[in-house]
Amino acid sequence: MPPAAIDTTSQLTSAGVSSALSKTAHSLTNGANGVSGVQLAELDASRITSTYTASPRPVPVPGSPEIAAQNICTDHMITAKWTVKEGWHAPALQPYGPLSLMPTASCLHYATECFEGLKLYRGYDGKLRLFRANLNAARMLNSATRIALPAFAPTELLKLIMKLCATDGPKWLPKDEPGSFLYLRPTMIASDPALGVQRPNEALLYVILTCFPRLDAPTIGADGSPQGMKLLASGDDTIRAWPGGFGHAKVGANYGPSLVAQGEARKAGYNQILWLFGDNCEVTEAGASNFFVVWRTRSGATELVTAPLDRKIILDGVTRRSVLQLVRERLSESTENVQGLDIVERNIQMDEIVQAAGDGRLLEAFAAGTAFFISPVQEIHFRGTDIRVPMTAGEAGPYTKQIKTWLSDIMYGKEHHEWGIVVEEQS
Ligand SMILES: *Cc1c(COP(=O)(O)O)cnc(C)c1O
Repeated sequence: MPPAAIDTTSQLTSAGVSSALSKTAHSLTNGANGVSGVQLAELDASRITSTYTASPRPVPVPGSPEIAAQNICTDHMITAKWTVKEGWHAPALQPYGPLSLMPTASCLHYATECFEGLKLYRGYDGKLRLFRANLNAARMLNSATRIALPAFAPTELLKLIMKLCATDGPKWLPKDEPGSFLYLRPTMIASDPALGVQRPNEALLYVILTCFPRLDAPTIGADGSPQGMKLLASGDDTIRAWPGGFGHAKVGANYGPSLVAQGEARKAGYNQILWLFGDNCEVTEAGASNFFVVWRTRSGATELVTAPLDRKIILDGVTRRSVLQLVRERLSESTENVQGLDIVERNIQMDEIVQAAGDGRLLEAFAAGTAFFISPVQEIHFRGTDIRVPMTAGEAGPYTKQIKTWLSDIMYGKEHHEWGIVVEEQS
């Protein structure tokens, strides 16, 4: 595989970012929103104003039910308003609390909403870190411009994210709890108070920081052994995304419509839907995570396979990208303990997985994303057949376990790596 394979179809490269930026800047200054020749203010983190809360709230204890409920946010949030006439207003750090929107707001009717998801980690060396958050900021720009929301410089969003983390991180992720994390949700909504079906004239960017449960911990089955994820392949009457659509953007419109299928999967005892695409039942993603298999080919090679980005029907996951890069750097050569992995980004048909499992060539499968981190898969149900995936190293297969350890060591500062971005804490 050529090293460039990851980047060729990606929008997270600097070329991709400047193309998204220029498209929008151009359309804004040339009248697409009914305004022409006006110099609009850019998003500028240095203009931030800060109002601190007068009623700080208690931090829930680790493992408490409130954390599982995913409804507790930290004391503050960041907001920044945009209008078509002026561009970006000064951002604000302010107490966490309700937003005020008119019932006509565009996002409530036309799904003009996009978001990001990333974590803030408390390291074993006592430091706070983000993981490759520059990629999340770049992806947010791409998602925003896909649905006619305003552009911004991703570096400014990253500074705003860091500001919130620096403010609330020290209290909400105490130094004496290394290995813990919070979840960041940068969001943008169109807030125009008018029902017209058109490019938004007003938008609100905000960033919140929430308590979040650990979703990658193995559960213990009835037989006492660790359980992996159970995936239910989607039926032929539902698809998540299609070429020319918006499956590659983190826009709310991708998620609401998937919840009926997800609810049914949960009721039937599965953790997530494995989304298939096309007549050949090609595997795309597992829930809101990218999907990987490790198998041996008939000619004896050991491959790490995941769906490609070129049709734009899957999300360009930061975790996906990191898995591919680490495996390329560290696992492509065989050692005395493990056989090297060939990295293959191509469409995988369900039939190929069924056959590999039948021949004993299916070695491992896992889901990869921020929320579920690296979660081993133990079973896939596909139209009447149960495919068992081995989890030979107890809670995962050896490759899955190794990849997960490498990533978590970078996130929690056990390995010092450029992907771990240290947040300077505000005392
Ligand atoms: C967020 C998301 C992912 C994972 O992306 P990460 O950047 O690794 O968190 C994968 N697929 C979908 C559909 C997603 O929404």
